[in-house]
Amino acid sequence: MMQCPTASLRAVPPALTVKPRLLRHFLLFLLLALCMLGFGYVGYHLSEEAGIRQLRDDGERQLELHARAVESEINRYTYLPSLLELESSVSHLLLNPTPYRRNLVNHYLEGLNRRSGARAIYLLDTQGRVLATSNWRDADSYLGEDLAFRAYFQEAVQGRPGRFYGIGSTTGEAGYYLAHGLRYQDRIIGVAVVKVKLETLQERWEKARLQAFVSDENGIIILSSDPALRMKAVRPLSAEDKERLARSLQYYWWALNEWEPLSRQVLGEGLEAISFAASDPVGAAEGEVAYLAQTRTLDDTPWHFTLLSPLADLRREAVIQGMLAAVGFALLAFLLIAWNERRKVFATRLAAREALLAANNELERKIAERTQDLRASNSRLLAEIRERKQTEDNLRKAQDGLVQAGKLAVIGQMSTSIAHELNQPLAALRTLSGNTVRFLARGALDTASTNLAAINELVDRMGRITASLRAFARRSDDHGQARLGKAVDAALFLLHSRLDRSGLTLNRDVDDVLLAIDQTRLEQILVNLVANALDAMSGQSDCLLWLSGHADGDTYRLQVRDNGPGIDPANRQYLFEPFFTTKPGEHGLGLGLTLSASLATAAGGSLAAQHPETGGTAFELCLPLLHRPEGTASTAP
Ligand code: ADP
Repeated sequence: MMQCPTASLRAVPPALTVKPRLLRHFLLFLLLALCMLGFGYVGYHLSEEAGIRQLRDDGERQLELHARAVESEINRYTYLPSLLELESSVSHLLLNPTPYRRNLVNHYLEGLNRRSGARAIYLLDTQGRVLATSNWRDADSYLGEDLAFRAYFQEAVQGRPGRFYGIGSTTGEAGYYLAHGLRYQDRIIGVAVVKVKLETLQERWEKARLQAFVSDENGIIILSSDPALRMKAVRPLSAEDKERLARSLQYYWWALNEWEPLSRQVLGEGLEAISFAASDPVGAAEGEVAYLAQTRTLDDTPWHFTLLSPLADLRREAVIQGMLAAVGFALLAFLLIAWNERRKVFATRLAAREALLAANNELERKIAERTQDLRASNSRLLAEIRERKQTEDNLRKAQDGLVQAGKLAVIGQMSTSIAHELNQPLAALRTLSGNTVRFLARGALDTASTNLAAINELVDRMGRITASLRAFARRSDDHGQARLGKAVDAALFLLHSRLDRSGLTLNRDVDDVLLAIDQTRLEQILVNLVANALDAMSGQSDCLLWLSGHADGDTYRLQVRDNGPGIDPANRQYLFEPFFTTKPGEHGLGLGLTLSASLATAAGGSLAAQHPETGGTAFELCLPLLHRPEGTASTAP
């Protein structure tokens, strides 16, 4: 059994049947998509870079402005603790503390605090104990508190300016502490401290919708427009640091967590891109927000001010720019492809037009060649036609000559019988006219008149003989018409003396139809055929001649048949050749049948010999039938 070949065909993976054109298109599409992505990315990147540059420049101005504001806010109180050095009541208290002096200084500090707008102003002795304070009236007054552990005290008591941001151990309230060692005769006798609340800065930032923070020397965010960031460490804190800070109580009981942005990218000196989880005021996460962080140190402090500029708008802008770049590229690519396609179409059209032009030229060339050939063959044909016409003319002339010659021959043949025919009436005329003269002389007018009538009759007969002879000899046109009955009558009349002599029996069965042949020519043909039949039967005792005809469509067939000896089969092929004759001496010219056949053919008919088995010879003359008059059939005479 034969294996089905389709099984092996089906095994071919369909991927192999993918058309190369389709694959090319797919690859082109892939390339375009990749390029679009690339352009989009580059556009995004460049736009982001430019945006960041712009943002950085703007930010730098803002940073400077706000850092200055922070500095001036901090520095506003720098002079305040040192002012107390000038106050004698303060030094008196420090040198010799009494309740009275304390009370005095308390009041003084209270007034000073109110005027300066600070949070609190207080005085420590060299042991770090609070001797007097502006908030002496409050329940949570610092009075008598031991603040020796505070770093600002430790600094100030050694004659260095104490700067410290921390959370008050009494109130738990954050503040900026400025401490100054008060000197008396080059000796530090106490420390004046001003606590300032910097929250106004935060409020100002919030109002200005500014994202900013200040981090202190430990990297802890002490001031921030975003409350969530407060008390967060901007850089990782080691365990020791944490331990140390916890012990210093600088940040009271705050857990010092690290601020953990989601991503952090250093862009330059004091420049970072930071993104972190955004949170709304309730604390629920809202997604990721990105900022450009610009940081600079604040003068006269170990602190840093950081300004956060949101990158969201910039990123959105960059995305739009990237998309624009991608779309622009796609548009350009589309235009290029369209242009290329159009160019291809134009090229194809041009090629087609050129091919058409070439084909047209080729066609025109061929036509020119053919025309030349045709002209040549036309002129050849014309020459041939001229030649043929010439030949035809020659032939016609020859034919006319032959007809004329045939007629003359027939006249020659008939002249003897005509002479005989005319001699008889002439002799009778002579006798009759002689007799008539005599009868007139005698006065026998009746007899004379009878003789004259006989003379008339004889003259008429002679006239008829000569008239038929003349008609026979005259040249006639090709296109004539003839009445068959009349032609048969004329032929029989011309030959009537021979007919009478031969004593033959004539069987006539022809219609008096109108045939398309000249009358005389038809008579001539019939005379030839009947004369030949008479010649053939000349030695016979019983001579039979049949003249019979019938219509066959548009043709009339006339048969002239005799019961003569027939024609020798050896001679049959030569019958219609000119000058073929079997008749001895001057009897035959051999032109009769030739002429008759040519006359029949000229009239559009034919003449043919038949050899009936019953003996004798028959000639069939076919001629075109013009009109067949009703009831004109004629029979034997
Ligand atoms: P011609 O009569 O001068 O010989 P034709 O062309 O009329 O010339 O006839 C050619 C020959 O055809 C005759 O010589 C004769 O031998 C033969 N022929 C013609 N008609 C008959 C006929 N009816 N019977 C026998 N032979 C004939």
